[in-house]
Amino acid sequence: MSEVIDLRSDTVTRPTPEMRAAMAAADVGDDVYGEDPTINLLEQRAAEIFGRQAAIFVPTGSMGNQIALKLHTSPGQDVICESRAHVLDWEMNMAAMFSGCQLRTVAADRGILRWEHIAPVLSTAGLYYKTQTGLVWIENTHNMAGGTVTPADVMQQIVEGAHAAGLPVHLDGARVFNAASALNTSVADLTRGFDTVNFCLSKGLCAPVGSVLVGTRSLIARARSVRKALGGGMRQAGILAAAGLIALEQMPQRLHEDHANARLLAEGMSDVSGLTVPEMPETNILIFTVRGEASRWVALMKERGVFASAIGPERVRLVTHRDVSAEQCERAVKVIADVAAKVEALLP
Ligand SMILES: *Cc1c(COP(=O)(O)O)cnc(C)c1O
Repeated sequence: MSEVIDLRSDTVTRPTPEMRAAMAAADVGDDVYGEDPTINLLEQRAAEIFGRQAAIFVPTGSMGNQIALKLHTSPGQDVICESRAHVLDWEMNMAAMFSGCQLRTVAADRGILRWEHIAPVLSTAGLYYKTQTGLVWIENTHNMAGGTVTPADVMQQIVEGAHAAGLPVHLDGARVFNAASALNTSVADLTRGFDTVNFCLSKGLCAPVGSVLVGTRSLIARARSVRKALGGGMRQAGILAAAGLIALEQMPQRLHEDHANARLLAEGMSDVSGLTVPEMPETNILIFTVRGEASRWVALMKERGVFASAIGPERVRLVTHRDVSAEQCERAVKVIADVAAKVEALLP
């Protein structure tokens, strides 16, 4: 195998040479004492960019999400989320383990929850004998729905509805910069009113490690204790924040390239028989359905140097990112067409 075209996830991106240089040169201190200047700067910049009072650097997006869930809920409450949400399938049921909450899922077309989906399942009347809702949870872009984007007006209606019902709203914005790029808006405008927002530095933004949770000063102060409880108190992690700062300041501007490459893949694959591309990708994730077993397709693609993820019996996910070029995406299409022909020939 000569060259690998790794389309499994945007988490595979490697830090840029500039990030590595910044990491080597980073000014550091003990962050549990609040004394790491590079982390403090990253948190300050994240808060400014999102138009919030404060921010906290966390090792993973899962931890940022679970801190938020803990901050907003009491044990025994419901958290309303979409039926394919990351918090449901990929965070090890930490909502139950750590916060004692239940996730109440609502299926929405293309993963895009609207206030009309949420209002009917809310339980806020305060009846002592009925399960109470504690939090509304939105994911934008929606990973398992194919990087779909919830538009700003839909986001705002959810914020208004939830707040009118006395409920906080959290945004799992692991890829919120992709959403803002696709909508040609800022993350501050797109996420306005959300009580907390979590975003990843280590996906399309290419930092090696880290996510950031933003919110009010008082919420983020409490978040520091919750992060410590989860084992997320870090020491001289400014070497990571140094890469995170470059990710935050410089990498969002190039995400449209990843989105163009995802469309390139989709266009190239649109007339390949044996697979279906359900829609043109809006961001950097393309999910397609195949005839035959997805795991088989992925294995055959891998033999030819194109890495993808089987995310269901017949569903394959491709994710574009900084470490795959347009030219590599064109080559990936050729490999996929070859694999399609091979699978087709073997099917009964
Ligand atoms: C990747 C991701 C996360 C966080 O994942 P970690 O691997 O814990 O950093 C959270 N939400 C969504 C939608 C994601 O795609």
